[in-house]
Amino acid sequence: MVVVAIDGPSASGKSTVSKEVALSLQFTYVDSGSLYRGLTWKAIRSGLDMKNSEAVVEWLAGVQIDFFVETRVVRFTMEGEDPGLQLRSEPVRESVSDMAAIPEVRTFVVRHLRDMVRFGNIVMEGRDIGSVVFPMTPFKFYLDADPEERARRRFEEQVKLEGKGDVNAVLDSLKRRDQKDTTRKTAPLQIPLGARVINTTSMSIQQVVELIAADVAKNMSANRS
Ligand code: C5P
Repeated sequence: MVVVAIDGPSASGKSTVSKEVALSLQFTYVDSGSLYRGLTWKAIRSGLDMKNSEAVVEWLAGVQIDFFVETRVVRFTMEGEDPGLQLRSEPVRESVSDMAAIPEVRTFVVRHLRDMVRFGNIVMEGRDIGSVVFPMTPFKFYLDADPEERARRRFEEQVKLEGKGDVNAVLDSLKRRDQKDTTRKTAPLQIPLGARVINTTSMSIQQVVELIAADVAKNMSANRS
């Protein structure tokens, strides 16, 4: 099974690029952040505070997630409910990094992520895919972009989704999240060993997709011969 790991900070272009790479290679796409977001969404609805890690860990033991593939994208329900666009809501956005910093939560999510190979060849995006989830895969990429460019991209996404946004608030929120993601004790965001680093600041989505897809295809045929 082939696993393409695409890591990087928020709004580095990971999601769009990963989906397109999966399409181009005809692999299945997995958004690992959606699991952390899904758990956060469900925990908020259960009245939990993500800073109370003991309560979260106790709650986690009873959480039921069911995965399925729809048009080559891995999706899930939690307790039978599809979180849908709620995953991108502000309360989830603001608490997800606290949820993702809890070691037991990470163990739980990593276990599910490793199991995704049952769906065939995959493109998985996240923060620790090449470093922790699939450290042995030879197909590792790390996307980055300047914070201002990332904030601009997230802002545009937000305006499309919510009809409004504040670019400075987005930049602050991104920086807060970067800070939490890079400094947490368990599996901090880092460039995985052996990853190809791509700075996407002045690249188009299509250019990044072509670069990755060509690199994977080349290495797949080299590994076969
Ligand atoms: O990628 P996305 O913005 O949806 O991720 C939401 C949050 O989930 C990140 O800010 C990070 O805290 C966490 N995350 C993580 N490890 C991953 C994917 C996401 O810690 N592999």
